[in-house]
Amino acid sequence: MIRVSEAHLDAQPETLVVDVLRSTPMTRGPMVTRFEAAFTAMSGTAHAVAVSSGTAALVVALEALRIGSGDEVLTTPFTFVGTLNAILERGARVRLVDIRSDDYTIDVEALDHAVGPTTRAVLPVHLYGHPADMPAIVKVVGGRDVDIIEDAAQAHGATIDGRPVGSFGVGCFSSYATKSLTTGESGMITTDDPQLAERLRTVRDRQDSMTGVHHVPPHDLRMTDLQGAIGLSELQKWPARTDRRRANAARLTEGLAGLAGVATPVEAPGRSHVYHQYTVRIGREARLQRDALARELASRGIETGVYYPRPVYDYESYRALRRVVCEPVPRAERAASEVLSLPVHAWLTEGELDHIVTTMHDLLG
Ligand SMILES: *Cc1c(COP(=O)(O)O)cnc(C)c1O
Repeated sequence: MIRVSEAHLDAQPETLVVDVLRSTPMTRGPMVTRFEAAFTAMSGTAHAVAVSSGTAALVVALEALRIGSGDEVLTTPFTFVGTLNAILERGARVRLVDIRSDDYTIDVEALDHAVGPTTRAVLPVHLYGHPADMPAIVKVVGGRDVDIIEDAAQAHGATIDGRPVGSFGVGCFSSYATKSLTTGESGMITTDDPQLAERLRTVRDRQDSMTGVHHVPPHDLRMTDLQGAIGLSELQKWPARTDRRRANAARLTEGLAGLAGVATPVEAPGRSHVYHQYTVRIGREARLQRDALARELASRGIETGVYYPRPVYDYESYRALRRVVCEPVPRAERAASEVLSLPVHAWLTEGELDHIVTTMHDLLG
């Protein structure tokens, strides 16, 4: 089976991890500090604050910005539920705004209509590794007391006119097992603002880093040195792996060109897509509909993924919540029924790429 996502660690992290195992104390220490410093080079920000997960990154960012009960956060309905959960955990209200049909990121015009007096933050998601239109979002928010938090969980190193995501607002990254820069489980928050960086650390540690005073009971949000060691060594391999993903995506796009009913991913001018997922859209005119196609591909040894089969609000646990407010989102609903992610990971062989292209033609041509 050709897997839709794969991760392999080689011997280098093993050496660093053994160093950590032999050191004391085996908690947040020099490896995390080194990983944070190395991460700023990729995010292009002055500060990076390591946390226990991508969801924790969002929660800590919202709390450090003092966003909570009574505040409204605008975000996209077409994302992983972690985005929504983080806002709800802070007690804030979520307003879901429709996406664009071409790159699946939040629609700036819809966002502009939705921003109102109760809006405290906007939280765009760089879905699949393609940057949302940050310069336009910054412009929409401009002059208001509205913070920008970027959910960059899937988009390590994606850029807009050369500027990395996570440097336009407060950046929140995930290094969960399937993400393209993995430590197994952890997250990172990026910012240029030194005071905010201090607050992020205080919220994470539940302790003022200067005075040592405890504010609130602990809530385990720290990254350990074990993840720090893995992240540090993975970061060195990450540029080459990203190049491989981009090259694999280019091969797929070339191979699938002209296939009826299949729309390949777009890369907007000036924006670089890092292809956390290579997601095609299977239109109604295609010979097989999305779910039938996925089954046929699986039976021919190709695993695929549907990210996401429903908009985030469309689950029992959220539908009843008054704090989840949804604008009409027809484009997100349609995308949920048509998207299909094909394997694009850095360990695909030429033969596997050819097999994916040929099989798609056999099934849909
Ligand atoms: C993975 C992911 C998260 C959450 O990250 P975890 O590390 O799993 O907590 C949040 N948002 C998006 C878009 C993600 O893909």
